[in-house]
Amino acid sequence: MPVLCSSCSEKRAVLKRPKTGHSLCKACFFWAFEEEVHRTIVAAKLFRPGETVGIAASGGKDSTVLAHVMKLLNERHGYGLELMLISVDEGITGYRDDSLETVKRNQQQYELPLKIVSYEELYGWTMDAIVKQVGLKNNCTFCGVFRRQALDRGAIMLKVDKICTGHNADDVAETVLMNILRGDIARLRRCTAISTASEGDGVVPRCKPLKYAYEKEIVLYAYFKKLDYFSTECIYSPNAYRGYARTFLKDLESIRPSSIMDIIHSGENLSVREGVKMPVQGTCSRCGYISSQALCKSCVLLEGLNRGLPKLGIGKHHRLHEKILSQQPLTEQEERKLKSVDF
Ligand code: SF4
Ligand code: ZN
Repeated sequence: MPVLCSSCSEKRAVLKRPKTGHSLCKACFFWAFEEEVHRTIVAAKLFRPGETVGIAASGGKDSTVLAHVMKLLNERHGYGLELMLISVDEGITGYRDDSLETVKRNQQQYELPLKIVSYEELYGWTMDAIVKQVGLKNNCTFCGVFRRQALDRGAIMLKVDKICTGHNADDVAETVLMNILRGDIARLRRCTAISTASEGDGVVPRCKPLKYAYEKEIVLYAYFKKLDYFSTECIYSPNAYRGYARTFLKDLESIRPSSIMDIIHSGENLSVREGVKMPVQGTCSRCGYISSQALCKSCVLLEGLNRGLPKLGIGKHHRLHEKILSQQPLTEQEERKLKSVDF
């Protein structure tokens, strides 16, 4: 006997919701998923009428579903937002060039303006060239730091008021776990926030409308809606630490689906004891971007690349940053330390 949809009791159920276990028909699943995102947006007051919002679009499932749902909810509930797509081209042959083709198709499908900012034009380095120099161990550090700034720069060029990203509940839970494992209190406090206010000049506020959407449901939504997305992994993707956290989380989810939400709620409810020293935000003395050090991470990484000292931005070399900033020569031993990379 076919199972009936537990919501409308009319149509046949085609799936069991990973988040709630309810058996639903396609239409009721779409509605439940979309309206949950809507409730997240309303409860956290993510947008104000008249704002221009840049959707960070990679062509992957999360940002494709985000673009689709944002457009739909903006029309359905009259948010009054002007939406645009912003993509970052890291310069990864065989990966980003293909996924950007997907973004370009999405642009046509959703009729939204698109801006692509590339590492090559912003930093003079593609990820292909960076990997050639730094190897496959620390490449994601460069890529992550550069992407954050690139998105901000793209957003400023487009004059958007806010950026929204496709981070989903699994991503947030994973980040909570990683920050606990690393003992990174400053990040732990920030990583569960659904939106970040502008922290200074050159930083555009960000938010995560899919913060409570399970990855499995995003995949189901994209599949049943037949959305056009790109599903290949980055060719430079080892990122082992995140990989372990991810596998651990998936194991937990298979035993208890609510684990994902439980971990997010734990992260949200952690508070930092008074008197714990937190990094003070200032601005980078070279490029003006926010930084808790004299030089921002991006400028340090770039300096390392340009000088052939790729280890400069990796690990703890703050003392050497000062030297570099004041253009003092490095000793032979210091140079050696910063040159060696593990491939
Ligand atoms: Fe960049 Fe690493 Fe992500 Fe690839 S896996 S896009 S190198 S951060
Ligand atoms: Zn800088």
